[in-house]
Amino acid sequence: MSRRDEILAEMGLAPIWRLREKEGVSQEVVSTEKNEKTNDWIQLKQAVPACTACGLHKGRTQTVFGVGDENADWLLVGEAPGAEEDRLGEPFVGQAGKLLDNMLAAIGLKRGANVYIANVLKCRPPGNRNPEPEEVAKCTPHLLRQIELIRPKLIVAMGRFAAQTLLKTDATIASLRGRLHSYAGVPLIVTYHPAYLLRNLPDKSKAWADLVFAKKTMTTL
Ligand code: SF4
Repeated sequence: MSRRDEILAEMGLAPIWRLREKEGVSQEVVSTEKNEKTNDWIQLKQAVPACTACGLHKGRTQTVFGVGDENADWLLVGEAPGAEEDRLGEPFVGQAGKLLDNMLAAIGLKRGANVYIANVLKCRPPGNRNPEPEEVAKCTPHLLRQIELIRPKLIVAMGRFAAQTLLKTDATIASLRGRLHSYAGVPLIVTYHPAYLLRNLPDKSKAWADLVFAKKTMTTL
């Protein structure tokens, strides 16, 4: 059993992304799987903008699907689109997005290169209010489908809302940081949201520690 399998077994995980590389599988099968995956992405990218499952569709300019490398090892998950994201259709833009890009660069990562970025909710809550539980329940299947298709090795939940939603807990970020959790069978690490860090500069050092922990964890997966 490989070190990665040992760690996953210790965590009691039955990963949905297991066995990315399948030994002894013919090129024809690989090609068929790739085509199916491409079709699945196309379907999801059509389904999300057409979604009216919760009331947030009424106020959106557009859905914010997510962006990045669709075969990434890293999946970063935030809360919901803000005004700029709603306008541009991309998650983590503006000052918070710049900070996130800098944080990624500090651990040798780059948006779009082995990194995928998405939010729990695909539509902007009015006035940037907190998402309602029903909205989260309706939108979660979209995120789960993204996880199934990306098959990341590690999820980084950014901010209280993403962490509490994905881990189904009301525990504080402080109590969730520094430990390995799991979501949908994928190892998950909690850190602060870049927008929060812009308002709370002293916590940047904690976010840095979280990213170092994530980077170190990734080397074992
Ligand atoms: Fe659909 Fe999610 Fe938008 Fe609600 S927030 S309308 S569930 S895409």
